[in-house]
Amino acid sequence: MEELKMYIDGKWVDCSNAKKIHVFDPSTGKMMATIPRGVKEDVDAAVNAARKVFESERWRKIKPFERGRILYSVAEKLQNNRDRLARLESKDVGKPLTQGYADIDAAIRYFEFYGGAADKVMGDTIPVEDGLIDYVTREPIGVTAHIIPWNYPIQILSRSVAAAIATGNTVVVKSAEDTPMTACKMAEYFDQLHLPPGVFNHVTGYGTEAGASLSSHPGINHLTFTGSVATGITVSKAANENVVPTTLELGGKSPNIVFGDCDLEKAVDGVVKAIIQNAGQTCSAGSRLLVEESFKEEFLKHVVNRFKQLSIGSALEDKDIGPILNRRQYDRIINYLELAKKEGEIVVGGKSANVEGGGLYLEPTIIDGVSPNSRLAQEEIFGPVLTVFSFKDTEEALQLANGTDYGLVAGIWTETISRVHYLASKIEAGQIFVNNYGAGGGIQMPFGGYKKSGFGREKGFIALYNYTKVKNVAIKY
Ligand code: NAP
Repeated sequence: MEELKMYIDGKWVDCSNAKKIHVFDPSTGKMMATIPRGVKEDVDAAVNAARKVFESERWRKIKPFERGRILYSVAEKLQNNRDRLARLESKDVGKPLTQGYADIDAAIRYFEFYGGAADKVMGDTIPVEDGLIDYVTREPIGVTAHIIPWNYPIQILSRSVAAAIATGNTVVVKSAEDTPMTACKMAEYFDQLHLPPGVFNHVTGYGTEAGASLSSHPGINHLTFTGSVATGITVSKAANENVVPTTLELGGKSPNIVFGDCDLEKAVDGVVKAIIQNAGQTCSAGSRLLVEESFKEEFLKHVVNRFKQLSIGSALEDKDIGPILNRRQYDRIINYLELAKKEGEIVVGGKSANVEGGGLYLEPTIIDGVSPNSRLAQEEIFGPVLTVFSFKDTEEALQLANGTDYGLVAGIWTETISRVHYLASKIEAGQIFVNNYGAGGGIQMPFGGYKKSGFGREKGFIALYNYTKVKNVAIKY
């Protein structure tokens, strides 16, 4: 049992009200740590520290390539602690250990990628007229706030924090109350670098307290929020009050569109992995399967067979599917399964799985026969639950694919190239995978939503621009 602390202004601190939040291991339901229940005063202290150092000579004098080296040092610390961190992330979130390793490896790659990019963010010169030199510079935006969801804590923290520091900003992180463990470790690694105090701050606590104080804080200059649409709307309204720009990475109801001419084995594998990763508790989960009508029976038979073979167990046992995060998430999913029994048909799964140890587990489930307008087709279930639809032709596939408020990711499985180009150009989603589904994957690939899945982009070089402000200078000579 660890008693964790927040990291503010280069110091380890308990919250000002001395209240604690308990952190549970989803595989066993047992308490694994306590974190301070940070409140407004703690957020104020973190933002003030980040502001003070942002404006200090000491931070401003650090050259871009030196910021890059700071990020490389973090990557090295993550690498040196890879096994420990993978186990910690896996235990904290309840994700199979292999996925825990994948998350730490992604975190390492973010710090390496943005470390290498730190001295490559350049301005422009603009041709206007003879006798006028016009140039554009990109300056750091200031104090950046990062609100992290519970499902991919270290990856999501790393992707925005590394980009923000690469571009010369300072950082305040609010981790999710359920899964704060690796964010606390990250604070330890920053602490070991002996940076000027306040460059990296980590506040723990409830979303409605610490999170709300951070998103509405007049002292921040940018907010990166990753989480649900409902909270995204709340935080962006709060940030808008202070005219603070936001990057919103929200939920999804992503389709995998399968045509009869696909490579069957690859498509089955891709469709199954897309929904079971992290027990379906993934923003970019491929949660809707759209199959060409004439091919549906055959394709579904293979997917069902795979579902039946999937193993379920505790995070560290490293089965295919781990536990559901907590009772609240579990009950939510069960409610959807009850609805599925009324409105459609459960093809496989549909109930809790018996695993010893105290966690809450669900069988991977396939739902068929519900209307494309039903809640099951429209809402993010956030569990190992796949809803199936069929289409007659490409147009109908497109209609179904675009038929939700979300637009995060889409998968297309076909060997027909003209269809690929057509659908890729028409699908309203920020990321399209053809004959693979590496959802959200690829550190270098821009990632983000259309429609209610959010706006702004994370990952890749483009994300660096979230954390800069543009200045145009026109000189007459
Ligand atoms: P959430 O409930 O919206 O919470 C996200 C974060 O916001 C948490 O740190 C939460 O704190 C905080 N928060 C809650 N209420 C707040 C408020 N009123 N003001 C400020 N902050 C507040 O989402 P979640 O359940 O953690 O994560 C699941 C959702 O995230 C899903 O919809 C998923 O699709 C989405 N997601 C999107 C991406 C992406 O990149 N697009 C990636 C991962 C997840 P507490 O934890 O303390 O409540």
